Amino acid sequence: MGQIIRAVAAEEQIKIAVIAAADAVEEARQIHGLSPTASAALGRTLLGASLLGNAMKSEGESVTLRLNGGGPVGSVVAVSDNEGYVRGYVDQPRADLPTRADGKLDVGGLIGKNGTFTVSRDLGLREPYIGSVELVSGEVAEDLAAYLLESEQIASACGLGVLVGTDKSILAAGGFLVQLLPGAPEELVQQLEDNIFLMDQLTTILHEDGPEEVLNQVLKGLEPRILSREQMGYRCSCSWERLAGALKTIGPEALRDLAQSENAAEIRCQFCGKQYLFPSSELLSFIEAADDSQESAKND
Ligand SMILES: [Zn+2]
Repeated sequence: MGQIIRAVAAEEQIKIAVIAAADAVEEARQIHGLSPTASAALGRTLLGASLLGNAMKSEGESVTLRLNGGGPVGSVVAVSDNEGYVRGYVDQPRADLPTRADGKLDVGGLIGKNGTFTVSRDLGLREPYIGSVELVSGEVAEDLAAYLLESEQIASACGLGVLVGTDKSILAAGGFLVQLLPGAPEELVQQLEDNIFLMDQLTTILHEDGPEEVLNQVLKGLEPRILSREQMGYRCSCSWERLAGALKTIGPEALRDLAQSENAAEIRCQFCGKQYLFPSSELLSFIEAADDSQESAKND
């Protein structure tokens, strides 16, 4: 299971959430057959989504991160529920790039930075709250911090990392999101920046010592106090009924195309890979259902 630790520091002027979730990223890798760099790209996005989602208050709320950077991996999408359980996918799971000169996976290159970072918060209202900013680097953590500042006026620092082994399995994955309350003194900002600059490599800490050591290094000298530890993981919420609901919105032509397959169309959940069977007769009945609802809308 993955874990999210929440803490405060410096007399509650600093809030932090630290996540360790190698299992969740490994599960994503196995579901989608991700290349090493794609594992890091989707992994970091899942971690970021989980940190935002876990901070949401009510059951049924969710947050979706979407990066469209124009790079070889295409879109990267991650969704978290309000507990921090995540699911996600990328357009091109097998896309990969050579490692950078410094030995790191080239996540920024794979995602690209010519495009947008979009956050959609579903609070159970009629419309989700959607904010979007230009990508800074495509490295995900930097982009998330830029989004929070520009779109939600939250000053934060974020680090997200995924360590991939030589056999492509996920050895470590995790990160932190630290927020300063408005009006925090400049010395505190400086201390935090120094701590983050001087800390060991994130994935090394996670791999060797675990998430508490990340917390200790980011908040060194700032007297952190742990508030909660919660579990998270990779979890899909798909069902035949949900997919049916989505199919009813794709329009009569697309439904007729799908219904043309011999007996039944096999539809694969893009988040978990589970296959669902839709008999042709069922798909055609969705068209009629849509026609009926249009008819009754006209009659209203
Ligand atoms: Zn699913």
